[in-house]
Amino acid sequence: SWLLGQQLNSGHHLQLSDQTLMDLSLRFRREMDKGLCRDTNPTAAVKMLPTFVRSTPDGTEQGEFLALDLGGSNFRVLLVRVMGNGEQKVEMENEIYAIPEHVMRGSGSEFFDHIAECLANFLDKLGIKDKKLPLGFTFSFPCLQTKLDESVLVSWTKGFKSSGVEGKDVVSLLRKSIKKRGDFDIDIVAVINDTVGAMMTCGYDDQHCEIGLIVGTGTNACYMEQMRNLELQDGDEGRMCVNTEWGAFGDDGALEDLRTDIDREIDAGSLNPGKQLFEKMISGMYMGELVRLILVKMAKEKLLFQGKATAELLTTGSFKTTYVYAIENEKNEEGLAAAENVLQGLGLDPAVEDCIATQRVCQIVSTRAAHLCAATLAAVLRQVRDNKAAEKLRTTIGVDGSVYKNHPQFSRRLHKMVRRLVPDCDVRFLLSQDGSAKGAAMVTAVAYRLAAQHAE
Ligand code: BGC
Ligand code: MG
Repeated sequence: SWLLGQQLNSGHHLQLSDQTLMDLSLRFRREMDKGLCRDTNPTAAVKMLPTFVRSTPDGTEQGEFLALDLGGSNFRVLLVRVMGNGEQKVEMENEIYAIPEHVMRGSGSEFFDHIAECLANFLDKLGIKDKKLPLGFTFSFPCLQTKLDESVLVSWTKGFKSSGVEGKDVVSLLRKSIKKRGDFDIDIVAVINDTVGAMMTCGYDDQHCEIGLIVGTGTNACYMEQMRNLELQDGDEGRMCVNTEWGAFGDDGALEDLRTDIDREIDAGSLNPGKQLFEKMISGMYMGELVRLILVKMAKEKLLFQGKATAELLTTGSFKTTYVYAIENEKNEEGLAAAENVLQGLGLDPAVEDCIATQRVCQIVSTRAAHLCAATLAAVLRQVRDNKAAEKLRTTIGVDGSVYKNHPQFSRRLHKMVRRLVPDCDVRFLLSQDGSAKGAAMVTAVAYRLAAQHAE
């Protein structure tokens, strides 16, 4: 296993030293600056997008809101009741809807018609089609926002590729599809990123929460930034949440020294070649496939499976990211049994050594992912700390995403490395339950509270 690690590492350069991660963290901090500054933003890979979310919840928000959650592993519609007066209770009804692949990759109007139809179905089910409820839309893609309810899609990421939407305001597109139906009306108040949702839901319970992190199908983070550092926005007072879109780190070539031939192969076979290069080294959409490509390579080099690869193993997507979770079970025996199962399912007849090696490959790939995330997160933490001119920062990170929640070791490895890279921060990680969706309701609720205050 040590030998295997050596072979993997010399060949593919997947195990990153603390020093490399620290360098990477500093590099990302410079990328953040580049995105924040007016002159350098146009050419920055990391876009540091303003979100128009200017305060985290204070617990007094209340009301009934609809939420749409699009861009994670599921598309969902929810009804969220926020009951202010200190009780901080949130209730919800929710329904998961499928987005067929032909809709995800078809025309934009078809796409938004489908979303409007799901919304209609949901309102019908709850018997509330005649109410004009406020809606928060969690749309987890890079968007240029000009206000809370106007959000222009920069580019699709992950598995989405619906035509004619990039460069358009998704709120107008959704409004148009709803209007065309004419059977219900809603008030779209806010569009948010899922990272913002994670931050906002945790912020409801913990006033220190000022960072949101997602490690799921994709990966990204947001944080509360000082207005004076946000050169693209007028005004120097107060703070605004910035969506870093760190998944695009490296799209300008900044990660070429760390990317391996496997990373290049993943990118070449993806829906968006050349884009989201950092994300492709980390997130759930790619993790299993990274493992598969390494196994294939090792089989070809006769290091595994007696040099034989089956048709299944050679099929794109056949090694699911959920297999990685099973194989890295905390109980090693169970993990190895899972490896045997998975490999047999791929038509292989693995020896014990093959199972052990497969488990090792999973560990190396997912550990790299956790450590890469730790490096960029450490840069965000340093930025927040320096903004406060605090010697020791006490802060909370709201986290969500399938990899973070379901991989048995990912969160521990991430936390550990973050603490190693920024020892002078007292960081708490708070799991954001249903953050994407509840967060949208929360932002909508905050907007309502602020609007009410202004009206007073
Ligand atoms: C998107 C981000 C999103 C992240 C996590 C990325 O592909 O660009 O906007 O926050 O996935 O869902
Ligand atoms: Mg989500």
